[in-house]
Amino acid sequence: PRLSMLLRSTTLSTAAALPVLTKLQHDCATPLPLLRNIADNMAADMRAGLAVDGGSDLKMILSYVDSLPTGHERGLFYALDLGGTNFRVLRTQLGGRDERVIDTEFEQVSIPQDLMSGTSDELFDFIASALAKFVKKEGGKFVLPNGRSRETGFTFSFPVKQTSIDSGILIKWTKGFSVSGTPGKDIVACLNEAMGRQGLDMRVSALVNDTVATLAGARYWDDDVMVAVILGTGTNACYVESVEAIPKLQGRKSTYGKTIINTEWGAFSNGLPLTEYDRAMDAESINPGEQLYEKTISGMYLGEIVRRVLVRMAETGSLFGKHIPEKLQTPFALGTPNISSMQQDTSEDLEAVGSILYEATGVDSNLDARKMVVEVCDTIAKRGGRLAGAGIVGILQKMEEDSKGVVFGKRMVVAMDGGLYEHYPQYKRYLKNAVAELLGPELSSHVVIEHSKDGSGIGAALLAATNSIYEH
Ligand code: BGC
Ligand code: MG
Repeated sequence: PRLSMLLRSTTLSTAAALPVLTKLQHDCATPLPLLRNIADNMAADMRAGLAVDGGSDLKMILSYVDSLPTGHERGLFYALDLGGTNFRVLRTQLGGRDERVIDTEFEQVSIPQDLMSGTSDELFDFIASALAKFVKKEGGKFVLPNGRSRETGFTFSFPVKQTSIDSGILIKWTKGFSVSGTPGKDIVACLNEAMGRQGLDMRVSALVNDTVATLAGARYWDDDVMVAVILGTGTNACYVESVEAIPKLQGRKSTYGKTIINTEWGAFSNGLPLTEYDRAMDAESINPGEQLYEKTISGMYLGEIVRRVLVRMAETGSLFGKHIPEKLQTPFALGTPNISSMQQDTSEDLEAVGSILYEATGVDSNLDARKMVVEVCDTIAKRGGRLAGAGIVGILQKMEEDSKGVVFGKRMVVAMDGGLYEHYPQYKRYLKNAVAELLGPELSSHVVIEHSKDGSGIGAALLAATNSIYEH
């Protein structure tokens, strides 16, 4: 309906760009059968990845987190979080069942751009030095019993082959990081060496992915949390799996019969509706052929896909007049926060759309061009949100297939975090609608998608407590 409205009000300049939009919408369409196929493929890829290492696009990484926080945790614990754009440090004083979280403090610093493509030592020195400064400010309600080392959880939001709860090897960087010398190395050893250089006495008790930390943080408050999803700069999901359902474990025991699996679903690719813009962006990325699902649904990329479509519209349809500003042709000039903001503009003349476009890409736009741009944003957000929803359903489906009725018969919470989900209302709505469409009203009434804001910080500290070398 909106497209036909556009058609009627279109002037010459936007009319020429219309075929580009029509083709984009066609290529990005996510009708229910396609979503079902995505969910089925996700479930099948999970199974194949659990069978053997390298069995599918999904690595299905063993987290070595076999027990989740119970609420009885006590003491002072730290957490570090290295993820997409920010680095965070946190300390928390846990008071056990009754007092729970007595106090928490955290600090956040953005990661300087040059560190993202520098050397491993530079990156870890930066982390260790921020941590050392933060530790110096400890006081107040935070108490460390005599004779103990401080312990920390380390949330490291990249694919790591865990070798134990407190060690693991970086498989590859994602999300625009290309730090030299880290892939193939033990991340905890890298951090320990840097902490040594800072003269900091701190023990890493748990190395965890951000999804795993989010699941732990959410579980502290709600026993029905079984899945955690991150939709931010990058994307990923983890879930609680039964040990018997993991053939590649080959007998490694868990006293609890359950463990958390980090799916690394960002690498999923089977059946994705990709466009020429996705393929070009991928080819020019620092990790071509990798993280295709992530490149279709996560925050680092949505704005960039839109920009590429706009360049095409400018070239073939003179959408913004004769001149194409250099800024518009600059990769990543348009961010996902920009496209979300443009979609929030409900004014008649789309003035905010115009000024965001101008600020970010240097283009002048008339009303018709702005309407067209909003349509492009919506198309990309819709595809992303719906595909993300289908991925979640794929996980639930896999869990249900193995435990007949246990999953779909009762309340089940998916803990969700990440700036994309938090700050892009249309995206979030598309995601939720896709989940509801796929599950139907009865099943989806049991599934709760809960925003667990910054749950990964406290989650990592809780896992440090659960895996503490001291008794508590
Ligand atoms: C990484 C995951 C991470 C996700 C969300 C992806 O790029 O591979 O390990 O969980 O981003 O931060
Ligand atoms: Mg994060």
